[in-house]
Formats: sequence, C-alpha cells, structure tokens
Amino acid sequence: MLAQRTRLFEMSGTAAARAAAKAADAGKEIVDLTAGEIWSELAPAIREGAIDAINKGVNRYTDTIGMMELREALARMVSIETGQRWRADEIAVTSGAKQALFNVVMTLINPGDQVIIPAPYWASFPAQVQIAGGTPVHLDTRGNGYVPRIDDIERVITPLTRAIVVNTPGNPSGAVYDAATLAAIARLAIERKLWIIFDECYGSFTYNGHEHHPIVSLVPEVRAWTVIVNAFSKSLALTGWRIGYLAAPKELISAVKALQSHTTSNPNVVAQHAVLRHLDEGDGAFEAGLRGQLTTARQTGLTVLSGLQRVQVPKAQGGFYFYLDLSSLLRPTPGDSHAKTADDIVAALLREAGVAGVSGNAFGDPMGLRLSYGIPPEQLKAGLGRLVGVLNAWD
Ligand code: PLP
Repeated sequence: MLAQRTRLFEMSGTAAARAAAKAADAGKEIVDLTAGEIWSELAPAIREGAIDAINKGVNRYTDTIGMMELREALARMVSIETGQRWRADEIAVTSGAKQALFNVVMTLINPGDQVIIPAPYWASFPAQVQIAGGTPVHLDTRGNGYVPRIDDIERVITPLTRAIVVNTPGNPSGAVYDAATLAAIARLAIERKLWIIFDECYGSFTYNGHEHHPIVSLVPEVRAWTVIVNAFSKSLALTGWRIGYLAAPKELISAVKALQSHTTSNPNVVAQHAVLRHLDEGDGAFEAGLRGQLTTARQTGLTVLSGLQRVQVPKAQGGFYFYLDLSSLLRPTPGDSHAKTADDIVAALLREAGVAGVSGNAFGDPMGLRLSYGIPPEQLKAGLGRLVGVLNAWD
C-alpha cells in the first residue's frame, strides 16, 4: 500500500529507545541515559533574542536558507573556526543538522552512488543515503578505536564511491579523529574525487587533550570537496529549536536552496533571530558553562564506570556519550543467529536496574551500548552505579 521507499527506513533506533524508556517510566523511576541532548537552561542571549523577535511581531517567511544577517554571522563564525574566509553564499541555514545532511545527500548522491560510512554510525547517515537512492558502505572501525584506518577506506573505494562521512567527535563512539588521520582522509578525497560530509555537531565537546580539527583547516584544498554540517542543537543545548547549517561550495548551496524551497522553506524565524542574537552578543560564558558541566559529568561517570570488572572503561574523547564494548560479556560466535547482542543487555538493564541505554544495534554494532551523560549528576551517578552492578553480574 505504501511506497517501496518506506522499506528503506524505520524509526530511528535512538528515538525507539527513548520511547521504550518513557513507556517503562510509567511503572517505576527510570534513569534515562538515551538522550542525544544536554540537560541545560537556555542561553541568555537566545532567550532574549527570541522574546524580542516575538515582541516585535516577527511572523513572515525569511529567505529560504536563512536571513542574510544570520548567514553573514555564521560565515564569520566558520571563518574563525577554520582560519579561512567564508562568505554568506557558502552558508545555508537548515532545520537542524538533520535537514542539512538530508539536503546534502539529496543534492550530491545519484542513484547507485556509494557513500562510505564508518561504523558504528549515527543511524540517519545510512537511512538518508538510501532514501536518496545511494548505497551505504559500512566500514568497521571497532578494531581501531572507532576511527577508520586509511588503508581500510582505500580498500572499500570503488568507481561508484561518491562520498565519505566523517563524524568527529563521533556519535555514538565519542571518538575524536586526530589531525593526521583527518589530513590523510582529506588528501585521499582530493586524489579520488570524493566528497567529505563533515559532521562536526559535537565539535565543541572534547576532553583530556583531544582537540577537534575542522578538516578544511588542515588541508585547505579539500574545501572544494567538503560539506561542513553543524548545528546549535548540541553546542548550545538547543535540540528543540531546530537550527543547523551547512558550509559548502556555493554551487552546492544554490542547489540546497532550490531543494529546501520545495520542502520546508526557511527554518523557524524566531529561532533564527535568537541564534543571531547569540552570535552577535554571546560572550562565550554559556558555552564554557556547558563544557564545564559535561566535563564534570564525564568525570563523575568515568569514576563510577571504573567499577566495571569485565567491560573496558570507555575513552569518551568527545561529545557526551559513553560507548561500551560489550563483546567480553556477549562472547559473539560467528554464524550463531541466536547469540545474544546488546539488545539483550539493554532489555536486562531496563528490567533489572531501571536504566535505559541505546543498543549498539541502532548504530550497526551489535556489541555496543551508548549511554548519554548529558543528564543531571545525581541521576547519572545512580543510573551508572546500577548499570555497573548488572554488567558485573552478567552471566
Ligand atoms: N549529526 C549527528 C552526528 C547527530 O548525533 C545528530 C543528532 O543526534 C544530528 C546530526 C542531528 O542534529 P539536529 O538535532 O541538529 O538535527
């Protein structure tokens, strides 16, 4: 009855896990570690910018890919971040990073094109590629700290390869790509004429000496082959406000503008005004506070997780996720279709400990478990403590 296309995707695993946690919450108190967002107040300039916009009666469409003042402010911000000059016609404002990514695959991918997606991956990357008629090519990074080896990337390139997704810091793994790896990916992309879909949504959050590098700042010539995707969803804890953007060669931005003119038109005007105010007047204190909050939460969480007896404590280099490798508990046996996976552990955690996490199956990794630490510290401590008990007793 429905279009064949609907077989290409299902509800995102993270949304499903969130729903399961909510449903279980009806009976008892669940510690929900599924969230892809940060528990926080609004940034003051965001609040003021939005209230002013409403008081001024702002209500009309803006330019399809965002108000020119906002695109100019974003161009200035990206210029500072990358150490290069960017102009407003190289920027498009979107309804969150998710729309930015969707615009990218719809404007870059031809039917049959292959897109390399390092696994574990954020589930919308492959789903969107498939909706665009492309083929996701997964590259297992589990043996290399969740960062692809250059040799492995080269091995999966074919004449049909059109793009590679680089998500650093990565969701779900929290891995931060080092500068040498990024530079090598950039050179490979130039040589093999591949687009880099550079998702840096978690770029504001790195820890313990790890640094986020915009790929174009390492190899400036790769800019012609790079689409930078970002949003304020994570960096300003604004997931519900739906403001993202992409920075890319202007031909691509023009195509995105035409596409977006037939889908959503402009992102919400009040949210655009709020972000513009923050970019103009924010002094960085809010971002520093958020980073401080997450740094403390990460440390609190790692201290509790250091009680794990059979599972390695995660590196958690960036973002706000702990990503556990459960293979020591699950002892995977190749070819055994009844073997347990992270789904079983997630179900047991919910049942026995009242703790909700996201199974790695949602990210193409049946051995993984993602736990968000963007929640209040007492809940985090209690939830992880109970989780450690269940995992240590796992049989
Ligand atoms: N990219 C990655 C890697 C994400 O984890 C997410 C959200 O979780 C997004 C993009 C989408 O972000 P937004 O809420 O801005 O659409």
